[in-house]
Amino acid sequence: MAEDLIVNGSSVSEQWGQVCEQLRGEIGDTAFESWLKPLTVGTFSDGTMNICVPTRFMRNWVITNYSDRIHKIWEKKNPNIKNINFIVQAGQDIMQAHGIYSPTCPSLIKKISSSPMPQNIYQSGAVAAANANDGILNDSLSVPLNPQYTFENFVVGKTNEFAYAAARKVAESRNISFNPLFLYSGVGLGKTHLMHAIAWHIKQQDPSRNIVYLSAERFMCKFVRALRYKDTAAFKEQFRSVDVLMVDDVQFMGGKDFTQKEFFYTFNSLIEEGRQIIISADKSPSDLEGIEARLKSRLGCGLVADIHPTDFDLRIGILNSKAKQMGLDLPPKVAEFLATKITSNIRELEGALRRVIAHSQLLNDNEITLDMTQDILKDMLRSFDKRTTIDEIQKKVAEHFNISVREMQSSRRARTVARPRQIAMYLAKQLTSRSLPEIGRKFDRDHTTVMHAVRKVEELIMEDVSLAENVATLRRALEA
Ligand code: ADP
Ligand code: MG
Repeated sequence: MAEDLIVNGSSVSEQWGQVCEQLRGEIGDTAFESWLKPLTVGTFSDGTMNICVPTRFMRNWVITNYSDRIHKIWEKKNPNIKNINFIVQAGQDIMQAHGIYSPTCPSLIKKISSSPMPQNIYQSGAVAAANANDGILNDSLSVPLNPQYTFENFVVGKTNEFAYAAARKVAESRNISFNPLFLYSGVGLGKTHLMHAIAWHIKQQDPSRNIVYLSAERFMCKFVRALRYKDTAAFKEQFRSVDVLMVDDVQFMGGKDFTQKEFFYTFNSLIEEGRQIIISADKSPSDLEGIEARLKSRLGCGLVADIHPTDFDLRIGILNSKAKQMGLDLPPKVAEFLATKITSNIRELEGALRRVIAHSQLLNDNEITLDMTQDILKDMLRSFDKRTTIDEIQKKVAEHFNISVREMQSSRRARTVARPRQIAMYLAKQLTSRSLPEIGRKFDRDHTTVMHAVRKVEELIMEDVSLAENVATLRRALEA
């Protein structure tokens, strides 16, 4: 096999490895594994770098979504690279397995990203990634932003228009209009997307602003590490120069008292200095569990915006927009089918669409039909159908205790009705991803009643063997 080509001091395959590491950080493991890992470096001549792609579909996808970024990152490492070409090299894996040399993709037909990289290269890759973000993001705190998560790529509908408007306002105003902006919703409905979009927008307007985006979990890890190394002063110092702080998924701080205290401190000092804070969570501030009251009230004192579950129109809008980004026209019947069947969240909707498109490219000569869609998604839809709903839980528990669902939802307080009701609430909390207020609504109660029921049943399970058995039987039946 041919030797790696040395350009600008290191081999192009080493450079590609570094580009990959940086991209993996930016777009996440899943997207990286699907789209970039299968790529391999090919020949380099006259400033043009050839990259081999296994299928035409993948080539289109990579060009639409990642080529600019790949080019930018690589050019920074190696100014000799003026152009990047993506070449479809079908059966690349097979050739590779047989050690067959390809003229466009010489030795380089080894998968760089899957081959173990020497430690020093790996490290310099990491450092390069951090440097590339200098100024944009405080490297030790912040994590890279997803280039896809922009306002332009965010489809607005009735269920998210308020959160979108609030996010835009925060991104566009020079002066602070509300602080903090608190976004909340169930999973996969666009909170992280909106936060990144705000960051990109602010960055575009004024690259000098120091924006830190991180998850609550990361905040906690960093803080705990600082405690361990007795270096909390340095930890605090990192926040001093932050202009905009975004903390994603703060529900993870529930029950973590030390972390909350530290966060409360950071939060207050930034707000006092007029810095913008943006927070996301899966519940409203007042419904957050295990969060100190004073922090909850602080979190809720700016603007609180929720994103509701998607409606049909938004799902259609998103499907069409994503298909368009991939250079495809989605037949209306297929879009309707997907939007009717996959109602849980946008992440799953996107996943389904991606699967259908990948199949059509591989097996159906790019044509997407309803039959094919139904066939491909059979398993996926079956597992959605299996998910337990609160209605089912109410029905099963009512049957089990020989009362009616109507009684369960009624205001009757007799033990024979109240206990099954509490068990149903407990199981709803355990087996579904619904929030306390959502569960409450199904029982015509407020969230505090549900919280009380959950605690009560937890206690009873410890004390009362027969009740514990009843709950276990019901749980098994519901999960079957
Ligand atoms: P959350 O943080 O609320 O769990 P994400 O922001 O991670 O959700 O969104 C999940 C996926 O759905 C992402 O790929 C995101 O780009 C996409 N998405 C969410 N809302 C929209 C929207 N309104 N338009 C386009 N894509 C969206
Ligand atoms: Mg998120």
